[in-house]
Amino acid sequence: MFEGLSNKLGDVFDKLTRRGALKASDVSEAMREVRIALLEADVALPVVKDFIAKVSEAAVGEQILRSVTPGQLVVKVVHDHLVEMLGAEPQPLRVHGNPPNAVLMVGLQGSGKTTTTAKIAARLTRLDKKKVLMASLDIYRPAAQQQLAQLGQQNDIATLPIVFGEQPVAIAKRAMNVGRTEGYDVVMLDTAGRLHIDEALMSEVQQVSDAVNPGETLLVTDAMTGQDAVNVAKEFHDKVGITGIVLTRVDGDARGGAALSMRAVTNTPIKFLGVGEKIDELDAFDAKRVAGSILGQGDVVGLVERAAQVIDQEEAEKTAERMMKGQFTLDDMANQIGQLRKMGDLKGLMGMMPGMGKMKKQLANADIDEKKIAHQEAIIRSMTLRERRNPKLINGSRRKRIAAGSGTTVPEVNRLLKQFETMSKMMKNMGKMGKKGLLKMPNI
Ligand code: GDP
Ligand code: MG
Repeated sequence: MFEGLSNKLGDVFDKLTRRGALKASDVSEAMREVRIALLEADVALPVVKDFIAKVSEAAVGEQILRSVTPGQLVVKVVHDHLVEMLGAEPQPLRVHGNPPNAVLMVGLQGSGKTTTTAKIAARLTRLDKKKVLMASLDIYRPAAQQQLAQLGQQNDIATLPIVFGEQPVAIAKRAMNVGRTEGYDVVMLDTAGRLHIDEALMSEVQQVSDAVNPGETLLVTDAMTGQDAVNVAKEFHDKVGITGIVLTRVDGDARGGAALSMRAVTNTPIKFLGVGEKIDELDAFDAKRVAGSILGQGDVVGLVERAAQVIDQEEAEKTAERMMKGQFTLDDMANQIGQLRKMGDLKGLMGMMPGMGKMKKQLANADIDEKKIAHQEAIIRSMTLRERRNPKLINGSRRKRIAAGSGTTVPEVNRLLKQFETMSKMMKNMGKMGKKGLLKMPNI
């Protein structure tokens, strides 16, 4: 998906990468092309303007970084802003409150509501082990209720028995009652759509919403309709109040503009992408992945990652420098542990520090226990700033408090402090001996 934009931006960045130093004029020229690419991808104009303004500002400001080419830097800035705009944190469904949790599915006719209702129900059943009941409130389209019942049968998901002639609000209330009495965790309500937004549609959705007080109101929109989908989203957001968006038919849309502007215009997270007709063709929305596809999976994202690594490395070098001078603090230790977790590879981290090559072999044999590392990080985080700067302060009662705060035990806190002491001594020695120093690392 999103190939159109990806290729366009790829060209733009190719040009930039081959150019020399990054000047303000370079940024603005690149942004002109980014702007055209975004508009061609069907991103709404105000969203494009806002994006370009933010990214340009950040790009010019960030010039100071060493060892990153101008092109890499711009790519990183554009990528980061795309991710930020799309929503950096994944947003899981809010279905974990007091059962039954109602999920209201709204949108225009043919957007994929019924299909998506079943897809989400199947996902909640399989992945989250939820007991899910589905009910169709679509009494207008012939056989709409049967369509949902059939999807339920095919995929082993319960549906509310159909009562002929019952009105939508009454169906919704009955579904919630059944949900309550029969112990369902989630009740998914599939509403009717119209071909266009109209008052009758909106007021019906509002009434249902008032009756069941849903934890989630998901707007289902068709990515293929591009700019129209954005208008639909705005309308539903203003009139009904939506908590999340599902973009369907992403399998057929090569532009991706709808995802970008929908998020910006409604400030509502995109939760899922429909990527086909089958029950399992639903992806959790992942901003990084989508931004990656927009920028192009291959070269460009690779460049971004390398650029980010360089930044990490500079950070590590600074720490190493301080360590050699004997200014190693508990904060540095927490920092190291954090990086360790990020990379999941101690060798990688030590490899970045000058003069530590020889330790790699010892480290290769070290037993890295994920849980232990997480505990160590928690212990340091439970200390006050003063304690971290001056570990001598940490007496018996403080140790107890830190253990409680980090969900660990006093012996664990003792061990960490001991380890810190050893490391700190070692760093001082190493500083004295210079980079040739051959030392034994304590076991982490
Ligand atoms: P509703 O009117 O909003 O309930 O829409 P339906 O769920 O009945 O879907 C209308 C059509 O779109 C059906 O043929 C679905 O199979 C199809 N559809 C739904 N989601 C997707 C998707 O993500 N990709 C593709 N290719 N088709 C989809
Ligand atoms: Mg339907």
